[in-house]
Amino acid sequence: MEFRIYDASAFYAGIPFASSDSGITSTLIFEEIQHIKKNHGAIEILLSTGRLKILDPTADSMKFITEQARKTGDIQKLSIADMSGIALAFELKSKLITDDFAVSNLAKNLRIHVEPIMTKGIRDVGRWIYYCAGCKKEFVGEEFCDQCGNKLNRKLIKESFKKNHSHNN
Ligand SMILES: [Zn+2]
Repeated sequence: MEFRIYDASAFYAGIPFASSDSGITSTLIFEEIQHIKKNHGAIEILLSTGRLKILDPTADSMKFITEQARKTGDIQKLSIADMSGIALAFELKSKLITDDFAVSNLAKNLRIHVEPIMTKGIRDVGRWIYYCAGCKKEFVGEEFCDQCGNKLNRKLIKESFKKNHSHNN
């Protein structure tokens, strides 16, 4: 049977509960999602029916993933739990279900098959930063650079889903 790897964002989006597919997550991710209280019963059902398994990556693959995260620059945005999910997907050659930008970025760099969460569009919110291509200065809510008068470019800064939402309900 093919197992998919769920990271924390997959649980926050309710994917494991909405799918009849089987999945694997790590101890650290499992601990991280314990506070989604409304899903506790659902998690127990997944575990007892074998649709969710908890496995941990080897120390070697964690070390490898950490090194790679340093190379891609994703390391500052990744928790050890995040990296454990990537390490599992890498080790087991499984699909990784995530909508975390840094997780997905590193995984794709490692040629891991990333399956984005289908409802992504709804929560894929970010923050637009306006910046001057000339002086590299950043602005919020401006159209022209106050130093050189250039029209500002803009880029979308993605906000982590985890930071934006509390799950303490
Ligand atoms: Zn400027």
